[in-house]
Amino acid sequence: MGATMHDLTKFYEALDQALQPLKMNCGACGECCRKTSKLRVYPLELQYISRFVQDEHSMKKFIDFSNNKVVKIWGDIVGHCPFQVGDYCSIYEVRPYYCRVYGPYNYRGKNLLKGCVYCGHSTTYFDKKELPLYDELLNLMKNSDQSIDS
Ligand code: SF4
Ligand code: SF4
Repeated sequence: MGATMHDLTKFYEALDQALQPLKMNCGACGECCRKTSKLRVYPLELQYISRFVQDEHSMKKFIDFSNNKVVKIWGDIVGHCPFQVGDYCSIYEVRPYYCRVYGPYNYRGKNLLKGCVYCGHSTTYFDKKELPLYDELLNLMKNSDQSIDS
Protein backbone atom coordinates (compact mmCIF):
# COMPACT_ATOMS: atom_id res chain seq x y z
CA MET A 1 0.00 0.00 0.00
CA GLY A 2 1.27 3.51 -0.82
CA ALA A 3 2.17 6.16 1.72
CA THR A 4 -0.85 7.90 3.17
CA MET A 5 -1.71 11.31 4.54
CA HIS A 6 -1.40 9.78 8.00
CA ASP A 7 2.17 8.71 7.20
CA LEU A 8 2.96 12.24 6.11
CA THR A 9 1.47 13.68 9.33
CA LYS A 10 3.69 11.31 11.34
CA PHE A 11 6.69 12.27 9.26
CA TYR A 12 6.14 15.99 9.84
CA GLU A 13 5.78 15.34 13.58
CA ALA A 14 9.12 13.50 13.59
CA LEU A 15 10.71 16.26 11.53
CA ASP A 16 9.46 18.98 13.89
CA GLN A 17 10.94 16.97 16.79
CA ALA A 18 14.24 16.64 14.94
CA LEU A 19 14.35 20.42 14.50
CA GLN A 20 13.53 21.09 18.16
CA PRO A 21 17.04 20.96 19.66
CA LEU A 22 17.73 24.36 18.16
CA LYS A 23 15.06 25.71 20.55
CA MET A 24 14.57 28.71 18.37
CA ASN A 25 11.33 29.86 16.83
CA CYS A 26 11.04 31.53 13.49
CA GLY A 27 10.77 35.29 13.82
CA ALA A 28 7.79 35.16 11.44
CA CYS A 29 9.00 38.23 9.59
CA GLY A 30 7.77 36.58 6.40
CA GLU A 31 10.76 37.68 4.35
CA CYS A 32 11.66 34.20 3.11
CA CYS A 33 8.13 33.56 1.79
CA ARG A 34 8.20 36.92 0.03
CA LYS A 35 11.55 36.31 -1.59
CA THR A 36 11.18 32.69 -2.58
CA SER A 37 11.09 32.36 -6.31
CA LYS A 38 10.49 28.62 -6.49
CA LEU A 39 9.71 26.10 -3.82
CA ARG A 40 10.20 22.37 -4.17
CA VAL A 41 7.06 20.55 -3.11
CA TYR A 42 6.42 16.84 -3.63
CA PRO A 43 3.17 15.61 -5.17
CA LEU A 44 2.08 13.91 -1.93
CA GLU A 45 2.64 17.19 -0.11
CA LEU A 46 0.51 19.00 -2.66
CA GLN A 47 -2.28 16.51 -2.06
CA TYR A 48 -1.89 17.02 1.67
CA ILE A 49 -2.11 20.79 1.35
CA SER A 50 -5.06 20.62 -1.03
CA ARG A 51 -7.11 18.80 1.63
CA PHE A 52 -6.55 21.72 3.97
CA VAL A 53 -7.15 24.52 1.49
CA GLN A 54 -10.68 25.32 0.37
CA ASP A 55 -9.74 27.97 -2.13
CA GLU A 56 -9.01 26.26 -5.45
CA HIS A 57 -7.66 29.43 -7.01
CA SER A 58 -4.90 29.78 -4.37
CA MET A 59 -4.13 26.09 -4.69
CA LYS A 60 -3.70 26.40 -8.42
CA LYS A 61 -1.45 29.41 -8.01
CA PHE A 62 0.61 27.50 -5.47
CA ILE A 63 0.99 24.53 -7.83
CA ASP A 64 2.24 26.92 -10.51
CA PHE A 65 4.55 28.59 -7.99
CA SER A 66 5.98 25.35 -6.65
CA ASN A 67 7.81 22.90 -8.82
CA ASN A 68 8.78 19.43 -7.71
CA LYS A 69 11.67 19.29 -10.15
CA VAL A 70 13.37 22.49 -9.09
CA VAL A 71 16.51 21.90 -7.07
CA LYS A 72 17.28 25.50 -6.31
CA ILE A 73 14.81 26.04 -3.53
CA TRP A 74 15.22 29.46 -2.08
CA GLY A 75 16.23 31.88 -4.77
CA ASP A 76 17.16 35.50 -4.70
CA ILE A 77 14.75 36.47 -7.45
CA VAL A 78 11.78 38.24 -5.95
CA GLY A 79 8.84 35.88 -5.73
CA HIS A 80 5.86 35.57 -3.49
CA CYS A 81 4.21 32.47 -2.14
CA PRO A 82 0.46 32.55 -2.81
CA PHE A 83 -0.20 31.20 0.68
CA GLN A 84 1.48 34.08 2.44
CA VAL A 85 -1.08 36.38 4.08
CA GLY A 86 0.53 39.50 5.47
CA ASP A 87 3.72 38.18 7.06
CA TYR A 88 2.23 34.80 7.89
CA CYS A 89 1.84 31.40 6.28
CA SER A 90 -1.84 30.55 5.94
CA ILE A 91 -1.07 26.83 5.61
CA TYR A 92 1.50 26.66 8.42
CA GLU A 93 0.24 23.33 9.87
CA VAL A 94 0.56 21.62 6.50
CA ARG A 95 3.49 23.51 4.98
CA PRO A 96 5.91 21.38 3.00
CA TYR A 97 9.24 19.89 4.02
CA TYR A 98 11.42 22.62 2.59
CA CYS A 99 9.48 25.35 4.38
CA ARG A 100 10.06 23.46 7.65
CA VAL A 101 13.81 23.09 7.28
CA TYR A 102 14.53 26.56 5.93
CA GLY A 103 16.13 28.57 8.72
CA PRO A 104 17.38 25.74 10.94
CA TYR A 105 19.26 24.55 7.82
CA ASN A 106 20.72 26.70 5.10
CA TYR A 107 22.29 25.79 1.79
CA ARG A 108 26.05 26.39 1.59
CA GLY A 109 25.77 28.94 4.39
CA LYS A 110 24.46 31.49 1.94
CA ASN A 111 20.72 31.30 1.60
CA LEU A 112 19.49 32.83 4.84
CA LEU A 113 18.06 36.27 4.38
CA LYS A 114 19.55 39.21 6.23
CA GLY A 115 17.71 39.66 9.52
CA CYS A 116 16.46 36.06 9.72
CA VAL A 117 16.52 34.92 13.37
CA TYR A 118 18.42 31.79 12.34
CA CYS A 119 21.45 33.73 11.07
CA GLY A 120 24.43 32.50 13.07
CA HIS A 121 22.49 29.53 14.50
CA SER A 122 21.72 27.56 11.40
CA THR A 123 23.30 24.33 10.16
CA THR A 124 24.99 24.62 6.81
CA TYR A 125 24.41 21.82 4.31
CA PHE A 126 26.03 21.20 0.95
CA ASP A 127 23.97 18.26 -0.21
CA LYS A 128 20.27 17.58 0.34
CA LYS A 129 21.24 14.22 1.86
CA GLU A 130 22.50 16.16 4.88
CA LEU A 131 19.03 17.51 5.62
CA PRO A 132 17.11 16.01 8.57
CA LEU A 133 15.17 12.79 7.83
CA TYR A 134 15.99 13.17 4.15
CA ASP A 135 16.11 9.41 3.43
CA GLU A 136 12.79 8.99 5.21
CA LEU A 137 11.36 11.82 3.12
CA LEU A 138 12.43 10.18 -0.13
CA ASN A 139 11.17 6.76 0.96
CA LEU A 140 7.83 8.24 1.89
CA MET A 141 7.52 10.03 -1.42
CA LYS A 142 8.63 6.98 -3.40
CA ASN A 143 6.03 4.89 -1.59
CA SER A 144 3.29 7.33 -2.38
CA ASP A 145 1.18 6.74 -5.45
CA GLN A 146 2.63 9.84 -7.03
CA SER A 147 5.67 9.68 -9.25
CA ILE A 148 8.60 11.89 -8.31
CA ASP A 149 12.22 12.35 -9.10
CA SER A 150 14.62 12.24 -6.18
S1 SF4 B 1 3.93 27.53 2.15
FE1 SF4 B 1 3.95 28.94 3.88
S2 SF4 B 1 6.03 28.73 4.78
FE2 SF4 B 1 6.07 27.91 2.69
S3 SF4 B 1 6.73 29.58 1.35
FE3 SF4 B 1 4.47 29.56 1.37
S4 SF4 B 1 3.86 30.98 2.99
FE4 SF4 B 1 6.03 30.47 3.29
S1 SF4 C 1 13.34 34.89 7.15
FE1 SF4 C 1 13.77 33.60 8.97
S2 SF4 C 1 12.73 34.63 10.65
FE2 SF4 C 1 11.84 35.44 8.76
S3 SF4 C 1 10.04 34.12 8.38
FE3 SF4 C 1 11.79 33.24 7.25
S4 SF4 C 1 12.66 31.68 8.65
FE4 SF4 C 1 11.34 33.04 9.87
